[in-house]
Amino acid sequence: MGHAIVLGAGISGLLAARALAWHFDRVTVVERDRLPGEAVPRRGVPQGRHVHALLARGGEAIDVLFPGLTGELESLGAPVSTLLTEASYNLAGGELARGDIGARMVQASRPLLESVVRERVAALGQVKIIEGYDATGLTAEGSRVTGVRIRARGRPSTAEDGTSGEVVRGELVVDALGRAGRSAAWLAELGYARPSERRVKVDLGYTSRLFRMPEDALGSDRVLLVASVPGHPTRGLAGMLQEGDRWLLTLSGVQGDHPPTDLAEFRAFARTFVPPRVEAALSRAEPLDDGFAYRFPDGVRRWYEKLTALPDGLVAVGDSVCSFNPVYGQGMTVAVLEAQALERCLREGGQEELPRRYYRAAAKVLDTPWRFAAEADLTLPGAEGKRARSARLASGYMLRLRRVAHHDPVVAAGLLRVTMLLDPPSALFAPRMAARVLRGPEAAARGRRRR
Ligand SMILES: Cc1cc2nc3c(=O)[nH]c(=O)nc-3n(C[C@H](O)[C@H](O)[C@H](O)COP(=O)(O)OP(=O)(O)OC[C@H]3O[C@@H](n4cnc5c(N)ncnc54)[C@H](O)[C@@H]3O)c2cc1C
Repeated sequence: MGHAIVLGAGISGLLAARALAWHFDRVTVVERDRLPGEAVPRRGVPQGRHVHALLARGGEAIDVLFPGLTGELESLGAPVSTLLTEASYNLAGGELARGDIGARMVQASRPLLESVVRERVAALGQVKIIEGYDATGLTAEGSRVTGVRIRARGRPSTAEDGTSGEVVRGELVVDALGRAGRSAAWLAELGYARPSERRVKVDLGYTSRLFRMPEDALGSDRVLLVASVPGHPTRGLAGMLQEGDRWLLTLSGVQGDHPPTDLAEFRAFARTFVPPRVEAALSRAEPLDDGFAYRFPDGVRRWYEKLTALPDGLVAVGDSVCSFNPVYGQGMTVAVLEAQALERCLREGGQEELPRRYYRAAAKVLDTPWRFAAEADLTLPGAEGKRARSARLASGYMLRLRRVAHHDPVVAAGLLRVTMLLDPPSALFAPRMAARVLRGPEAAARGRRRR
């Protein structure tokens, strides 16, 4: 079915390329960075130095696109943890009750995950990756996008119209340029309306450091999460044991409460809100790097599915459509699910009305995680924006549910399965779950003592 061009070789571009290779004779991926031969961070993906959890749902779905991928990551040293027996989730002032929730999480660093996916994609006969080229614009005829303009990085424009160097022609262009995705601006240049956009300001700061942890410091735990601590609602910690037997610990702070990078200050910031066991482990951990900081201003969603007119031959995926507050760890899992949606649309209807059909399918993937993240962000001190009425009504119930989950492993499992995008949020309101929640935290604690 011709030639597809993917702009950006980040995670969503690579996943889209996999999906397209089932339907196009040729797929070209254009990437601005020179891509490293090893699993190391790179300039175009600076967030790769910070904890990057592929949620359990994403792990299951990525194995459908690339059979055996999580097993391959494991063979390269990425730990796989059984949730919630090898993971400590400390939410709202207590640890979620332990128990097997029927899900596992593969804990590769972002550079390792991306490099293994890239190798798989590059090995596909139809795919070619062009490195060191900027995508600078589109070419179009009437209502059809016909290709892209690309320019070698660092080389001045040579084309007569002064816009860019070379043109690559194709039947489909996929914008996988990340948060700075260009589709909305390109639509406007072609005379179409821009999609409506919502931003939820979080003013988030991340600081991450790699550590070697003494063997007895955290028992069999391979994941740590501390969030929504009473008195410190803006602060959080996410930690993952990764390949190379190294712990990556990320401190976060929203609404300007940014964590420091310096080791002593990093530890002091953590001490203000983490439980004593985590504090003790951190004080014994051996630092392996100097730490890295990242700033994230706001979550952004663009509603392409609501546009009444779209050109043929152009779709957007990944962060260029929706960029989530990273503390919820949803971006990559959503990218996997969008790639599956794109593949399904191509399988069921080819290129006929593809943008409209794809954006509708992508919206179904995005709606729940976006609502989850936006509603949670709007509860934070200093947040700007109105919460949905349904969320306000449910907030008392959710507060109680979290407190019950400190004692009741069934409720804890239900909560984590929704967070891992394995089950819909409605599962938390199902009669059997509601009965456990309504009994309250004290009854749940008594039940736990009897067990
Ligand atoms: C600090 C932080 C922590 C995060 N933690 C998690 C997590 O725990 N779990 C999770 O699932 N998600 C997490 N995310 C989100 C995740 O990083 C993104 O959702 C994901 O990377 C989106 O993939 P993408 O391919 O759309 O964009 P990106 O990964 O940003 O890739 C965009 C690519 O486009 C290239 N590019 C840009 N402009 C051009 C151009 N003009 N021409 C050619 N190439 C170009 C870039 O070099 C890059 O390779 C986190 C994000 C941040 C910021």
